Amino acid sequence: MLYLDNAATTPIHPEVKQAMLPYLVDAFGNPSSKYYELATDAQLATSEARQHVAKLINCQPDEIIFTSGATESNNFIIKGITAARSSLGKHIITTNVEHPSVLATFHYLQEIGFTVTILPVNEEGCITTQQFQEALTPQTIFASIQWGNNEIGTLHPIEAIANICLRHNIFLHCDATQVVGKLPVDVTQLQGINALSLSAHKFFGPKGVGATFLRKDQYGIFPTITPLIHGGGQEQGLRSGTLAVHNIVGLGKASEIALQHLAQHQHKLDVLEQYLITLLRDTFGEHIHFNHHSKHKIPGIISVRFSGINNELLVKKLAPIIAVSTGSACSSSQPSHVLAAIGLSLDEIRQTIRISLSPYLDKEALDLFKTL
Ligand code: PMP
Repeated sequence: MLYLDNAATTPIHPEVKQAMLPYLVDAFGNPSSKYYELATDAQLATSEARQHVAKLINCQPDEIIFTSGATESNNFIIKGITAARSSLGKHIITTNVEHPSVLATFHYLQEIGFTVTILPVNEEGCITTQQFQEALTPQTIFASIQWGNNEIGTLHPIEAIANICLRHNIFLHCDATQVVGKLPVDVTQLQGINALSLSAHKFFGPKGVGATFLRKDQYGIFPTITPLIHGGGQEQGLRSGTLAVHNIVGLGKASEIALQHLAQHQHKLDVLEQYLITLLRDTFGEHIHFNHHSKHKIPGIISVRFSGINNELLVKKLAPIIAVSTGSACSSSQPSHVLAAIGLSLDEIRQTIRISLSPYLDKEALDLFKTL
């Protein structure tokens, strides 16, 4: 079976699995315990993993807080920062193509009294800097803008938005779940990003583990933030709970591999994407249409519409030989809010499938589409 749903999740890289295995079996110590070797081994392993994650996005290791994944990281920052800053203002901003873990959290905050602006994207799936700038009010304290979209791959102008936030003292959170490990991410360069979410299973690591980058100030102090999970005070008091050492080691190894191969994988995904687009055009002619117009996108995420075809039936029919999806795996029971946001009709949404590639694929594997 040809697996082309890598934006939903990726398989674990063999080296990641090898790195994790000892921590599932013999090296079972709790990194918060002290003095004996099992504990110090676990401490060392999580500390090395933290360094690899930090290197991947170019921050300090103590600015990384391990979580259960990007859903938790998004909830942690959005709820935690808005709660801590609400005395300064109650206006918060996001976009209408965010992941449900951002949008649902914003809806919750609206219910408890925040004023929410949800910026509509253009037909390419991104907001403009002008739109963002115009949405600001003296009450604006916080914005959460994704770096790249999980359904159509569009990239937002995050650098320009980060600069605006820096100038106006607005806390900017960035959901970079689909971008980390695929494109260069450098939070030292982008000082306007105060927090960022990432997830291991999107770049060949295990599920159930991710990280939040939270920027410290020049004195090495975190901004005031209310934790989502209170308890024993792990992760510098910001995320309690015994660390999932095996998963964290997996995230660390996946980060190390992603950084090593970043440029090469980016290029490979570009090549594969172009190959598949040409192949689909040659095979299906005017029956297909690509939903992303822009070149400014995450490599390897393709959103394609087959006119006259129902996407559920198509995905089901392909399932024994090719795994693709109708949209995002996170909200597949409802018509995609992302495709609606770029102006597609319900019929067009129901004709769309997402194909998401892996740098470990070969071009020849994609020739399978010619036989359909
Ligand atoms: N944000 C984006 C953009 C995503 O694509 C996903 C995963 N589909 C998430 C957040 C949630 O990540 P996780 O599965 O780690 O909770």
